[in-house]
Amino acid sequence: MFELHGRSAVVTGGARGIGAAVARSLADAGAGVVVADILDDEGGKTAETLGPRGRFAHLDVTQENDWRAVLGIAEDTFGPLAVLINNAGILDYGEISEQSPAAFRKVLDVNLFGSWLGMHTAAPLLRTAGGGVIVNVSSTAGLMGYSGVGAYVASKWGLRGLTKTAAIELGRAGIRVCSVHPGPIDTPMTADMDRSVAAAQPLPRFGESEEVAAMVTFIVTEAGFSTGSEFVLDGGATAGQVLPPLS
Ligand code: NAP
Repeated sequence: MFELHGRSAVVTGGARGIGAAVARSLADAGAGVVVADILDDEGGKTAETLGPRGRFAHLDVTQENDWRAVLGIAEDTFGPLAVLINNAGILDYGEISEQSPAAFRKVLDVNLFGSWLGMHTAAPLLRTAGGGVIVNVSSTAGLMGYSGVGAYVASKWGLRGLTKTAAIELGRAGIRVCSVHPGPIDTPMTADMDRSVAAAQPLPRFGESEEVAAMVTFIVTEAGFSTGSEFVLDGGATAGQVLPPLS
């Protein structure tokens, strides 16, 4: 089991939703966790619920200086960096013919460039610490297409590919890099989404943030021989298609 006691973890987008559940789960597993988010009030409250193993730090994942500050806070507060969870993400609706170029770029900037910048900044620290784990929160949108969210789909496919390159580059340094691919999860991001999007799944419901958190913590603490791997939790959405009976 990967030892988390005396080491630090950074969870981006940790103020709420999936990130908050992941932060709680990693703190329960023994890590000192920096909840890193652009939402200062909500992030501060989430970090407080973690007790002495939690701390908030302001982070816009697209800003290199923010990254350096947050990783410094993590190591100064809780010890050498062990874990980076690239979870921060945004969703913007708009078909390819309708979405503005600026909106497309913004989604790529946060979801893909922000995660790249996190790995770019954290990898040297993990190397110095003798190894660690990076988990990139992709989506089933990184495994298939969805109408109306082309920028999101492109960003999540990109993150899936970047995960594999990072795994290859960092494996010899003892750094594992995996991606998780949730289907619809009940969070503020999906609060306005029609619940019927889950109706065709073999398990016809939205997942819970805690279910994603359990998988992320498993990857960090138990999956010692997995790197460059994709972990899917989607109620069976990507298992295949229902066919009408043959006549
Ligand atoms: P959420 O409830 O919206 O939480 C995401 C958090 O990230 C929010 O606090 C958000 O702040 C923050 N954030 C946004 N831009 C940021 C930036 N530039 N720097 C730092 N933090 C930033 O979303 P969620 O549903 O928990 O999703 C978490 C991750 O899981 C995302 O990457 C998402 O794409 C992925 N995912 C979600 C689902 C789902 O169904 N919920 C499914 C598959 C994958 P703001 O509110 O101000 O934007």
